Amino acid sequence: GEDALVVRAEGNAALSNGACHENIKVFIRIRPLLGREIAAPAVTEVSEDGSTVRVETDLHNVNARFDHVFDLDSSQEEVYAKVRFAAESVVQGFNSTIFAYGQTGSGKSFTMFGPEDDLSIYGAEETSRSMGVIPRAVREVLAIAESERSRSGRSQSEDQEDEEVSIYCSFMQIYNDQPFDLLRDPGRERPLQVHENTETKEIYVVGLSEYAVTSLHECMALLEQGDEQRACRQTQMNDRRKKRSGRVVRAKLNLVDLAGSEKWGTMEQLDKGHVSELTNINTSLHTLGRCIAALTNPKATHVPFRDSKLTRILQDALGGNSRTCIIATLSPSEAYVEESISTLKFADRAKRVMQHAHVVET
Ligand code: ADP
Ligand code: MG
Repeated sequence: GEDALVVRAEGNAALSNGACHENIKVFIRIRPLLGREIAAPAVTEVSEDGSTVRVETDLHNVNARFDHVFDLDSSQEEVYAKVRFAAESVVQGFNSTIFAYGQTGSGKSFTMFGPEDDLSIYGAEETSRSMGVIPRAVREVLAIAESERSRSGRSQSEDQEDEEVSIYCSFMQIYNDQPFDLLRDPGRERPLQVHENTETKEIYVVGLSEYAVTSLHECMALLEQGDEQRACRQTQMNDRRKKRSGRVVRAKLNLVDLAGSEKWGTMEQLDKGHVSELTNINTSLHTLGRCIAALTNPKATHVPFRDSKLTRILQDALGGNSRTCIIATLSPSEAYVEESISTLKFADRAKRVMQHAHVVET
């Protein structure tokens, strides 16, 4: 299933006007050759300016242009530098989504979390170089919120707590097309309902726990261990806070480690449950692709958000005035060339209307 960290910012930060941004950015990240793959050369080649990737074998020759292509020697810091605009914008009141798409083993979790399995390690200084997008984004959002807080603390009286920016985290998994609260229900016993506030168009996963966090370490420890004892609040349909002065701006940042995109038709001996899980994964990734294609197509009249839970939950952070970054990950090895090309095609579809160079197969 897909794992998603939702970071909510609440406060009185001014909503920027809808200046016309290019709101969907598509990046490719190629991981290094690993283990036995090292014996053969990479089949991927990135142009010097990082705009284009070519995949060439005896059977394939594919060329595509993206907002940026990170070659196999890219650092976590370089990757984050390109997506940070989406993370930062949550504190200005924009919903945003950053997600990694690619086959299993292509580097999605490495890119989103980092190389370690134990998430609680992040937040320590020693691991800061290897930290992926999620800890970096959390660290940055918390730092911005903190500086907003100290600013407003200077200029306002104490009882105006509405004027502060607060950060809440939720962690969910979408499994078999149903959302589960990874912090309160790691055993996935209670699927949650998704609702839309018809007035504000906000999407709610009803009952999802939200924890106030103030440090990166605290947030990552929470993701690693969950914490039954800690006080949390639950996502509700109606406004949770009284608006005393002006409006309370609420925005969320979805940080998503998608399920593997590999085709499963060739796998053997799948039991029934496994088949239905993979069918749901295929449906949600396919629907995600169709939604993004529709969002980037000015002529499209319908975006099929409702066709999967994943896209339904991301709806208010994909469409409209939100920021979206896709990091499509792939292996440079010839062994996975089919999957890599299918990943490039997914990423290319997301950008199709915005640029003229498509995946060209020769
Ligand atoms: P996925 O989440 O897509 O299944 P992982 O992120 O678990 O893939 O990556 C698979 C393996 O490749 C892991 O051992 C990971 O540490 C390694 N890896 C992935 N991307 C990189 C990278 N950019 N640099 C170094 N190692 C990487
Ligand atoms: Mg993974």
